[in-house]
Amino acid sequence: MPELPEVETVRRSLTPYVINQTIADVTVYLPRMVRTHDPSGFHAHLVGQTINDLTRRGKHLIWHFPNCLMISHLRMEGKFFVSEESLPKMPHEHVRIQFTSGRVLIYQDVRTFGTFDLYDKPAELSTLKPLKDLGLEPFDAGFSGAYLHDQFNTRKGPIKPVLLDQTIILGLGNIYADEVLFCAGIHPTRKANKISLKRLNNLADCAKNVLKKAIELGGTTIRTYENSLGIDGLFQNELYVHTLENEPCRVCQTPIRRIKLSGRSTYYCKNCQH
Ligand SMILES: [Zn+2]
Repeated sequence: MPELPEVETVRRSLTPYVINQTIADVTVYLPRMVRTHDPSGFHAHLVGQTINDLTRRGKHLIWHFPNCLMISHLRMEGKFFVSEESLPKMPHEHVRIQFTSGRVLIYQDVRTFGTFDLYDKPAELSTLKPLKDLGLEPFDAGFSGAYLHDQFNTRKGPIKPVLLDQTIILGLGNIYADEVLFCAGIHPTRKANKISLKRLNNLADCAKNVLKKAIELGGTTIRTYENSLGIDGLFQNELYVHTLENEPCRVCQTPIRRIKLSGRSTYYCKNCQH
């Protein structure tokens, strides 16, 4: 499943292909993917519009048009694919955008959980339904140990599932939550509300640094996920704990352990994390 660094990599790789492109035609093969409009309404709003910008909030891609915004989410396995010429319908293709230049943007999704929402341009992006109630990204100005200390105050359970709560930290998923906890030396079962401000300052720095490094390396390619345009990320070579059960810790050689927390596999070093 793509996490923040993978979605940022998709955004960066698509940007040169879609900016200033004008939409000639839109085909929706799976109507339920478009949650705000039926296929004909979606088509009517988009045809003739030019993409001015492509931005990201958490794991949402935000497509900016002069008169509206499209918010898309890749969910489990969504992928965008660009072609310079028209192609027959591809396997698992659910949305196709044809540009006036002849270029084609294809959305493929084996699991079909991806979504597309279309909105009139709001004054504030954060008022839109998919973006409401989201917490701060590690790259946001207000993200700090003090912010985490305040948010964790009422959270008496283990920290790992709390890190995955998008209303607190936006954009950390299972891979990076494990890596951030290793970086900060915090045991995944430690109670969130019992962690000192000093350690949370360190955790906030680790969240920024781990995600920044992952974005620089194009994200992580593990299992079935491969980003748009077939570019493989390289961050899997930088992992310290995630998916490395029984491998020696890169710092202390202790075998990495795997446990389940809230149903998610969690990897950690019992010697480095307390
Ligand atoms: Zn270790």
